Amino acid sequence: MNTSQNTDTYATDRFQMVQYQLVSRGIQDERVLKAMSEVPRHLFVPELYRHAAYEDCPLPIGEGQTISQPYMVAIMTQCLGLKGKEKVLEIGTGSGYQAAILSRLASYVYTIERHEGLALRAKKILKQMGYDNIEVIVGDGSLGLPEKAPFHGIIVTACAPHVPERLLNQLETGGRLVIPMGNPYNQILQQVIKTKSEMKSRDILECAFVPLIGEEGWKQE
Ligand code: SAH
Repeated sequence: MNTSQNTDTYATDRFQMVQYQLVSRGIQDERVLKAMSEVPRHLFVPELYRHAAYEDCPLPIGEGQTISQPYMVAIMTQCLGLKGKEKVLEIGTGSGYQAAILSRLASYVYTIERHEGLALRAKKILKQMGYDNIEVIVGDGSLGLPEKAPFHGIIVTACAPHVPERLLNQLETGGRLVIPMGNPYNQILQQVIKTKSEMKSRDILECAFVPLIGEEGWKQE
């Protein structure tokens, strides 16, 4: 893969994506903007859709799944409030793009995907690109990753019917969970902050994600 050549070809598209889709809609975290202006999103998108990699929409990645719209990636990442030293868990690796962004902003990223084919593809791209602080795991992420807990941040990139209790248990005090909640027709992105005494929830915006399938999610696709 000729990464540098591809990156140059898309540099203008990426710059415009950051300006017109992220900055103009209020994304303010400079570290998030920097990561999104550097990570070559087109390399995570199947060749058929590569020309549209920086457009303002989700795109198919195979297995009936999608890579999220750039703005959704940005706002979810911003909601985690990462400073650089955190250990983060992502549920729903998909293309690996969100994991790549997180890896630029935290110290280590665990990411779980239930489709083995997608997980293997993401792992390969992330390795080729030299992202060495990400571990891709195949499995049911709705259960979290208790053996590596607690996490500062947990980001779920598929829609859950309720906030999985086990994920809250795997957050450290001060930690944050970002999760789309609802059903296929009506979803809201929620941020949950775990304090010493309570869970503080906040609605962020309406959204549309594929379902979280698993023991603590929906039972089938
Ligand atoms: N973050 C991804 C977008 C993922 S789409 C990206 O940057 O491209 C949501 C993904 O969640 C899909 O790949 C789907 O297979 C996966 N998924 C759904 N339920 C899951 C579960 N219980 N555990 C792990 N992955 C799951």
